[in-house]
Amino acid sequence: MKLTWYGHSAFRIEVGAAKILIDPFLSNNPSWKRGWAEPAEGVTHVLLTHGHNDHFGDALAILKKTDAMLVANFEICNYLAGQGANGDKVNPGLHGGTVDCCGFTTAFVNALHSSSFGMKDGQNVYLGNPTGFVLHFPDDKTLYHMGDTDIFGDMALIQELHQPDIGIVPIGDRLTMGGAVAAVACRRYFNFEIAIPCHYGSFPIIDQTADKFVAGMEGSRTKALVPEIGKAFELCEDKPDINQCIPGAGLSCFTSIRP
Ligand SMILES: [Zn+2]
Repeated sequence: MKLTWYGHSAFRIEVGAAKILIDPFLSNNPSWKRGWAEPAEGVTHVLLTHGHNDHFGDALAILKKTDAMLVANFEICNYLAGQGANGDKVNPGLHGGTVDCCGFTTAFVNALHSSSFGMKDGQNVYLGNPTGFVLHFPDDKTLYHMGDTDIFGDMALIQELHQPDIGIVPIGDRLTMGGAVAAVACRRYFNFEIAIPCHYGSFPIIDQTADKFVAGMEGSRTKALVPEIGKAFELCEDKPDINQCIPGAGLSCFTSIRP
């Protein structure tokens, strides 16, 4: 599994033939100045956790330009198909559902947040309810992108039902849980091998570093992995224990594969 973080909640995940963009907020992302063309190269799937502009991002342009499958809640799929995305390539779901994405499955789970798309005139188009995604791959780690959310007790059910190995966790405070609470969520409800913080450092009104999260994860069996923006890294899928990827691995429990 190869991952690239583009700042905020935007990730590219590559497993076999699947090249997945989650929440592709790229061309207006203060943390990423290089647009969407490079992150979207060869993309096969676009997943949107909710409708907010800082997650919806360049989804429409990418879907129009590529043949990627859209995986999102029912309202977002309808909206994007109405705006010109290929209606034959939308794959909608809602909480409790798992959809086959050709090569992997995506389970829709809860997120405590909202899901409007802000228009230029200040109007909000409401696009259903926000979700998190659990991606199950037949021969690789299970990954849970929480979307934007606070901590909630039913995270225990997500662990019980899906047992994710890798967590992508919003930590920036104000609009999501902050780093200290996010660490409580990871430690109390999950058994991640790796937890990757996101949704910080992009806008001045949210936390600028992952320090609180990293401090909160100290002493946990879960490794807090803070990626560099735009720098792909590989998680060693052939190792049963991800801690074996690099001897003595702590915060650097990954292999950088691009300079
Ligand atoms: Zn957000």
